[in-house]
Amino acid sequence: MKATIALLPGDGIGPEVVAEAVRVLRAVAEGWHHTFEFSEALIGGCAIDAHGTALPAATLAVCQSADAVLLGAVGGPKWDDPRAAVRPEQGLLGIRKALGLYANLRPVTVTPAMARRSPLRAEIVQGVDLVVVRELTGGIYFGEKTSVYVRADEERATDTCVYTTSEIARVVRRACDLARTRRGVVTSVDKANVLETSRLWRRVTSAIVASEYPDLKLEHILVDACAMHLLRRPTDFDVIVTENMFGDILTDEASMLAGSLGLLPSASLGEGTRGLYEPIHGSAPDIAGQGSANPLATILSAALLLRYSLGLEDEARAVEEAVGVTLAAGIVTADLAEPGAASSTTVVADAVLTALRHLATIAA
Ligand code: NAD
Repeated sequence: MKATIALLPGDGIGPEVVAEAVRVLRAVAEGWHHTFEFSEALIGGCAIDAHGTALPAATLAVCQSADAVLLGAVGGPKWDDPRAAVRPEQGLLGIRKALGLYANLRPVTVTPAMARRSPLRAEIVQGVDLVVVRELTGGIYFGEKTSVYVRADEERATDTCVYTTSEIARVVRRACDLARTRRGVVTSVDKANVLETSRLWRRVTSAIVASEYPDLKLEHILVDACAMHLLRRPTDFDVIVTENMFGDILTDEASMLAGSLGLLPSASLGEGTRGLYEPIHGSAPDIAGQGSANPLATILSAALLLRYSLGLEDEARAVEEAVGVTLAAGIVTADLAEPGAASSTTVVADAVLTALRHLATIAA
């Protein structure tokens, strides 16, 4: 197949990890006989420096004409002033909005090699294989906000949580479609005992599953209970679907099951197949330029890109398997290594490439 992939390396370690993921994508193209064209553009702090905005019009145009977007990370101390009118993360929010990306998928899998490095006991996390589907463009983060002085010494602030039937339905359908390709279990997370938006969420989810996905098992769970069960019995979850703020919090909790931010990918999807793929970690300015960043989260994001935007399931699995082989061999960066046993960013990516080329030979 022929595909155009937009690359937004961003700031800090972003360019280092995106470069390694591109090597992996090139190896996939070679091994499975595809043609991938790459077009690179600026986002975040580097775009502010060059153009005075975190999301230049040219960057948006590159993304809109691509089949998929691979992003590194944005931000860093240089642009961290919270009072600044122009900030790197405006690039992230802007691109998600412009591309209509309303569903954020964060898979978390824990292999035996990773289980040993989790902050939780290995027997609890081993075998975790779940995906959190977070609603990305609605809810309390986007509702009306106020902040007023009601008296000289008393301020009052509000944030409004708003959801509509259609906003809930589209993300729930995404989660259900995903569950059909997995173990067929959907856990919908809400706070229906106290929030009206959660009661609507629960009604819409129940109706959609009953009428369109009767083959799936649906369970409803309160967000506080979910936070607890993610630590107590994480292997029981398959697909978790939830609203924006609950998802924001639960995805960070779920990411810790795997032990390192440097391992976890994400996909942001809308209507159609174009998506935005990025590691869940930030720009890690403390290690930028040292060649020590873990490239695996970005390489696994490239695997999600192959799966969800390009429909290349075999190739996506091969990349994931190559990452698994690399981890099992103990070829890891400093965030995962025992003292004195760390490999560099490039050496880890080289190991993935070696495993991948072997898998391509078998597939040929
Ligand atoms: P961070 O994720 O960048 O770093 C947290 C810690 O994890 C650091 O010690 C870092 O060295 C380590 N780390 C992160 N990714 C790693 C990797 N691939 N390999 C090895 N170690 C890794 O979060 P932070 O320090 O809170 O934020 C740094 C900057 O990144 C800030 O400017 C923040 O706004 C930005 N940020 C961007 C995104 C994004 O682009 N999506 C997300 C979070 C934070």
